Amino acid sequence: MPDEIRCRFAPSPTGYMHVGNLHTALFNWLFCRHEGGKFILRIEDTDEVRSTESALAVIYDGLRWLGLDWDEGPDVGGDFAPYVQSERLPIYQEYLDRLLEAGLAYKCYCTREELEEMRRVQQASGRPPRYDGRCRLARPREGAEACIRLKMREAGKTAINDLIQGEVVYENALVGDPVICKTSGFPTYHFAVVVDDYLMQITHVIRAVEHLPNTQIHVQLQDALGFPRPVYAHLPIILGADRSKLSKRHGAVSVTEYQQMGYLPEAMFNFLALLGWSPASEQEIFSREEIIQRFTLEACSKSPAVFDLEKAEWLNGEYIKALTPEQLADRALPYLVQAGLFEAQPTPERKAWLVQVCGLMQERVRLLTVFTDWARYFFTDDFDYEDRAREKWLSREDCPARLDALADRLATTDWNAEALEAAVRGLADELGLKAAELIHPCRAAVTGTTIGPSLFHLLELLPQDDVVARLRRAADLSRKGELAPRGTGEE
Ligand code: GLU
Repeated sequence: MPDEIRCRFAPSPTGYMHVGNLHTALFNWLFCRHEGGKFILRIEDTDEVRSTESALAVIYDGLRWLGLDWDEGPDVGGDFAPYVQSERLPIYQEYLDRLLEAGLAYKCYCTREELEEMRRVQQASGRPPRYDGRCRLARPREGAEACIRLKMREAGKTAINDLIQGEVVYENALVGDPVICKTSGFPTYHFAVVVDDYLMQITHVIRAVEHLPNTQIHVQLQDALGFPRPVYAHLPIILGADRSKLSKRHGAVSVTEYQQMGYLPEAMFNFLALLGWSPASEQEIFSREEIIQRFTLEACSKSPAVFDLEKAEWLNGEYIKALTPEQLADRALPYLVQAGLFEAQPTPERKAWLVQVCGLMQERVRLLTVFTDWARYFFTDDFDYEDRAREKWLSREDCPARLDALADRLATTDWNAEALEAAVRGLADELGLKAAELIHPCRAAVTGTTIGPSLFHLLELLPQDDVVARLRRAADLSRKGELAPRGTGEE
């Protein structure tokens, strides 16, 4: 065994990379960084049918997004490429040959139909499906396609001492001989994982608890090949807030979607670190360095971790509040550019304006997408009038006249928050209204919403002509009855 800690993240590029995968990567990376060990990335693409390039790209994006760098691999211009299993087929072949020669594995010629029939008969008699080992007694069939199976122990128990899950014991009689090499000549996941963990001198296998039952196969393979056993640490299952297994229903589960949803990577890093790991403190916000410093596998829990999107959003908001307005503007800009709401190379004046918008909004921002969604009114006249704004203000009979009066007054007001406030309050006095009776419809007409930052500071940041035009537009639409609530149930 090497005298350094060595861990790997071993994703399969099939389907999309979901937060559970990223969580596993993060815990491996944290453990290595805490221990001063080596973190290895290994692409497990032995499922030659389902592996795709696009799934691979998502894996790299996710790791890069969270800043999970790896420490080893083939040199590609000063950088490390990951290890890729499909490029290592001759290596697996060598170990397969060894098992075959030692009589610890055998060729299986069963056809798909035969296997289906076996399963059917077992199910009909109430037995769990399991390969019955009929090819163990050599029955070579010239020319027929064969896969290779490992001879599992037929009696006794296989015990696994898991660092997080404790001791787990499996009855050997319940497991059939697993396929370790497919008829295509590709090794199966079980085989490649065991050979590579050995050759890459992995000391700690940290992965999702879903893999725990596979571990009984892996340890038997290690025994057959004479490999030492790494330490196993199976991370708890991740559940949605309703305690069912995390799925699409709980919001996005693909990693890249969280980026698109407006999460900061540092907030997601913090949030994922607290899923199943407890730093034994009430504190919720930890810097990357603090997490690395405190992280241990012993403090990981085996009870399910609950992925609470509300909490993730809250945490993101806290991280956003801690940014300077300039930093927030830099973070928001790519979202605005992508939505076509802002230029990618703004002039210093435009940039300074964006910083002011961010400063004004900062307290209210939980997700960066707020700027392209709810607060798009800063950047475009093309925004929606929310139902609440329609119902409470814009559909009232007195609305058009009030908005017209506001438009007339604001067309000649000095354009700063103080003067704007004086103008609106002065107009309210003249019309015998409370200031709120103008402020609310004004906000509804200019922003389409009923809540937001200080109205006068917000107006100050918009061009005077635009504000006046928006007031007149809403007055017209209201007069024509086009701003009645639509009853969409939205807030
Ligand atoms: N390739 C496996 C997966 O993506 C992980 C294997 C392992 O960590 O042992 O689920």
